[in-house]
Amino acid sequence: MNDLKVKEIVTRSYISPSKLPGYDYVINPYVGCAHACIYCYAEFMKRFSNHDEPWGTFTDVKVRSTCAKMADLRHQQVFLSSVTDCYNPLEAKYRLTRRLLEYLQYSGAHITLLTKSDLVLQDLDLLTKIPDIRVGFSIQSLDEEFCKKTEPNAPSVSRRINALKTLHENNIKTWVHISPIFPQLSDWQSVVQATRAYADSFSFENLKLRAAPLARVLLYITQHQPHLKELYQQIYVAKEGTYWKNLRKEILKFCNEQQLRAEVHFSEDETPEK
Ligand code: SF4
Repeated sequence: MNDLKVKEIVTRSYISPSKLPGYDYVINPYVGCAHACIYCYAEFMKRFSNHDEPWGTFTDVKVRSTCAKMADLRHQQVFLSSVTDCYNPLEAKYRLTRRLLEYLQYSGAHITLLTKSDLVLQDLDLLTKIPDIRVGFSIQSLDEEFCKKTEPNAPSVSRRINALKTLHENNIKTWVHISPIFPQLSDWQSVVQATRAYADSFSFENLKLRAAPLARVLLYITQHQPHLKELYQQIYVAKEGTYWKNLRKEILKFCNEQQLRAEVHFSEDETPEK
């Protein structure tokens, strides 16, 4: 965080049409993300923002927009954020996400927010007033050491779970996004058991990798989990799909047995199940 390169920029619009299934619009108040997850798929944003620094070492802050008016968002599904964490550490200073939520509060939109940070609690007062919002936390495992290695600057999992509990206790709709599921490493059932008392629903997403994140994860596996090297080669280099097919069945069975409200998103072009 100390060496983070921060630039204030002007954006054309805070809100963009969404390609995510189930969402009409996305809002990304920042470009880049200091959490620096080794698997982050949002790294492609470097191409569109003239950055060649390593992912996680820069953040552009969209301090102002040239667009005078936002789209009509009544009954629209709006997602924060798809290619950054809207509660990355800079939000403590800039309060951009808060400003956008203040606007969205009266927009008539259905708002979905996803973060890895308990910084979201700084807006608890506002979140309790927004009529249609659900707040989610991404949690891939309860293993803090594994998470520290793969999400080096993100808040610990215990802080995320405590924040989830606080939101739930304040009657805010919550969900847990169990993602990304690393083959043989993400203890997804333990995440469900540790959070189900505070979560209204769950979603599950597998680890999807290409380009630089693929190289970083394979290096991590080689260095820290060498016994899984062959499996990761099969899944990500030979593109063998059996592992995910079996895991998806296992998750669906578990969710049925446990009577969980859940969706499984296991490939880029797949519509949610359940
Ligand atoms: S928190 Fe999300 S956007 Fe930020 S680095 Fe991690 S995966 Fe990427």
